Amino acid sequence: MTLAPKILVADDDQALSRTLSWILKENGYEVVTVPGGEHLFDHLQAEPFDLLLLDIMMPKIDGLQLLQRVKADPRYKDLPVLMISSMPPEEATVRSLGLGAADFIPKPFRVRELLARVKAHLRLRREITEVREEARSRSEMIEIMQEVTASLRPEEIYQILVRRVAHGLDLSRCSIIIAGPEDETGTVVAAFENPALRNLPMDLRKYPEIRRALATGEVVLVRDAATDPLYEEVRAGWSNGEGPVQTRSAIALRFSLRGQPAGVFFLRTTSDTAPLSEHDVRFAEQVIAAAVAALEKAYDLEHAVMGQEQMRHLAETDPLTNCFNRRALMEKLEQEMDRAARYATMLTGMMVDIDNFKQINDTHGHLVGDRVLKQLASLLKREQRSVDIVARYGGEEFVVLLPETTSAESRNFAERLLRRVATHDFGEPGKPVRVTISVGIASYPDERVADGESLLRLADSHLYRAKSDGRNRFRD
Ligand code: GH3
Ligand code: MG
Ligand code: MG
Repeated sequence: MTLAPKILVADDDQALSRTLSWILKENGYEVVTVPGGEHLFDHLQAEPFDLLLLDIMMPKIDGLQLLQRVKADPRYKDLPVLMISSMPPEEATVRSLGLGAADFIPKPFRVRELLARVKAHLRLRREITEVREEARSRSEMIEIMQEVTASLRPEEIYQILVRRVAHGLDLSRCSIIIAGPEDETGTVVAAFENPALRNLPMDLRKYPEIRRALATGEVVLVRDAATDPLYEEVRAGWSNGEGPVQTRSAIALRFSLRGQPAGVFFLRTTSDTAPLSEHDVRFAEQVIAAAVAALEKAYDLEHAVMGQEQMRHLAETDPLTNCFNRRALMEKLEQEMDRAARYATMLTGMMVDIDNFKQINDTHGHLVGDRVLKQLASLLKREQRSVDIVARYGGEEFVVLLPETTSAESRNFAERLLRRVATHDFGEPGKPVRVTISVGIASYPDERVADGESLLRLADSHLYRAKSDGRNRFRD
């Protein structure tokens, strides 16, 4: 159902106004009359009209002057104005057409001719509007696509889509909800009305249009929420004062990714904005269809990146302690050695070994032993600076690499570490296990150190001295 075209009639002749109004209404138009044309602009501002019938000679106001003012206002640039007058046709026609009138109808008019002209001008106006809308939405689409394809993250694309569609269609509410065809709960991934919102759960039982779109894959357009049968239950909630906002009209549009239904695009207007139409459905459909490819690409990329990162993490990490493993350590050590050589800075390596760990295992069991290892790893990681590297070198041995550290600084670090470990409650809560460590320190540059391996060997020999000197100490 399309709305009846709305015509504004401005004429001082009341009888003629009435007749005209009656004829037009009989022919399916909606008509508003302004006697004398005095408050013409108030009417034009109050509601949108599709056509204006304007008398030229009125006692208080000159119709041609009115015409001039209407045409000077950019808001009414496209409003067809048909002049009606008993002025000599030649003169009046030339003058009014020169001022921007669409047509001139001489009085007394023939009804059929008048109707034919009104109809022709309304059609022309509709066509112009459509062409213009089309051009506008096409250039808008190009802009949207440029923005969307420049974005690599799905969340960003969702945000762009809701913002662009809300602006494009002048909506206050527009969101994207991820949900499957049978789901009762969805996840709002983007909402124009709340740009900060991320992944909000949504109870779909209150949204019949979304559920229908999800289940059927059809576009659901609710023109008037006050009368649409789909909203019957929801309306009952409204009258109980429930529900977030009073929806006037809504569009729910399902979209798929890689051929699988993924969610809905949800557009709404409230009572203060114009209801949604087929045109809005088409625009939203175009936007989402064009964005799907970009979304799929963004998801693929995200998976690929995540997969790679996970693989690398696994390959580099010791599963018990979550520190770097020995293999990763050796790689990082070579890099740090290179860097130290290139920039002529110091690199310190520390070999950390738990004292009498065998005894801890024997006394408290292997599980507690494992726990101690994890706890020591976290303690080491807490003590490190962001550039330091902590790795599990072997059973109960750890290596800490400290780039750009002087001997004095690494001694301080070792002292602090020994103290922290010796005073820390290891083991299970309520059953503290006392643990000490011994530390061997080696630094580069040093004539005994040529590469990463010799650095670790030197640290290990210092560790051995720390052990033989009585444990719970460092040597360098
Ligand atoms: P020292 O003070 O000389 O270092 O004595 P220690 O007992 O710590 O040294 P030793 O090398 O003799 O024993 C290390 C023990 O660490 C032996 C081994 O069973 C234990 N161990 C190695 N890896 C693990 C592990 O992953 N979990 C547990 N619970 N124990 C481990
Ligand atoms: Mg040990
Ligand atoms: Mg050992």
